[in-house]
Amino acid sequence: MEKSSEYAKKPNDVSLQELRDRLAEFAEVRGWDQYHSPRNLLLALVGEVGELSEIFQWKGEVARGLPNWTSDDKEHLEEELSDVLLYLVRLADVCGLDLGQAALTKIVKNARKYPVANQQKSSTYH
Ligand SMILES: [Mg+2]
Repeated sequence: MEKSSEYAKKPNDVSLQELRDRLAEFAEVRGWDQYHSPRNLLLALVGEVGELSEIFQWKGEVARGLPNWTSDDKEHLEEELSDVLLYLVRLADVCGLDLGQAALTKIVKNARKYPVANQQKSSTYH
């Protein structure tokens, strides 16, 4: 986005609503809104998940915090994570969904499904 340097160093929390609004404006001013059907956005999202996966492909297990990664590798990871997030937010928006609220609701459902007392027994998370 053309104002990326303006936002890059802003040390605040970024809301899903802000991302949603910026993405809508980004698409609108470029005439891309017509291409942003749910299906097209989903396929773009899957493509970006593939790009994200390539970063980890063949590396074996990676330590938390990425202690042995170069700054370029970390920047690349930030970019691909962002691509995934941005398409996810845009997909939810064009579907007319409140992704933030849906995610909070899902956390509550997950907490009911996986009570704290059972955490030692449960080895999978969905
Ligand atoms: Mg990408």
